[in-house]
Amino acid sequence: MEVRLNGKSALITGGSKGLGLAIAQEFAASGADVAILARDPGTLAEAKQQILAAAPGRKVAAISCDVSQMAPIQRAFDQAMAELGRVDILVNNAGQSMAKPFESVTDEEWQSDLDLKLFAAIRLARLVMPQMRERKWGRIINVLNIGAKAPGPRSVPTSVSRAAGLALTKVLANEGAPHGILVNALHVGIIVSDQIVRRHRAEGANVGLDDFIAQAGRNVPLGRMGKAEEFAAIATFLASDQGGYIAGASINVDGGRSPIW
Ligand code: NDP
Repeated sequence: MEVRLNGKSALITGGSKGLGLAIAQEFAASGADVAILARDPGTLAEAKQQILAAAPGRKVAAISCDVSQMAPIQRAFDQAMAELGRVDILVNNAGQSMAKPFESVTDEEWQSDLDLKLFAAIRLARLVMPQMRERKWGRIINVLNIGAKAPGPRSVPTSVSRAAGLALTKVLANEGAPHGILVNALHVGIIVSDQIVRRHRAEGANVGLDDFIAQAGRNVPLGRMGKAEEFAAIATFLASDQGGYIAGASINVDGGRSPIW
């Protein structure tokens, strides 16, 4: 089976690094034009070159945007529409780790996590859905974590923001499906990305990166961390016509780590 996204345009938040970049690369290699959103313009420019190197001829819009605020989101959407003409696929992926004991989390931290992980998805979905509905075809993929379904101690505010993202996924799936807009959630366990490299720098002074990754992977039933390409492959399938009967699903991409399916 060949999974193709020919003729489609995708907007991927957090598309300059890690899982978002892997998704943008796989989408472009599968025939889609892509808009990648992130804050740092330098990293965005490098990511654009990487995507184009592997998928020459595709359009790549690299758009600097803080997705935790409405005004930049509106500007980024307008720019993506101007450069690509349409957005058929939205991947709400931008995020960063934010997990602490409940009593230590301030109101400001709750608000900024919800702005980044929940409101960005709400605002972008509201912008992209009308033109998807007109064409009777759309895909929205919300990248969440396994804490959305199985929140542990010291996991806030992220686990709560992600649980809200899961509820949002189901509502949008129910409202979108009659119009051909398929909305699904992917739950990350632990997958090698720039975030993991940063975590190694912060915590793993005594071990090399490979050993740090191997050690962290030992707690996963499959015995290893996931690869960004593995994550991108399932996102690409969901975005494709072959994924056309999957709506409102919540799929763990975690090597079996979540106690909840
Ligand atoms: P990375 O840190 O490797 O990449 C994060 C991306 O998001 C970057 O492109 C970053 O660019 C962008 N980003 C961060 N904040 C903002 C913002 N305010 N506005 C716009 N873009 C932003 O993370 P991963 O690839 O590992 O993670 C991808 C998603 O998966 C995230 O939502 C993360 O929380 C989730 N996740 C990942 C896990 C893992 O094991 N990798 C585990 C659990 C969840 P820039 O900094 O330039 O803005």
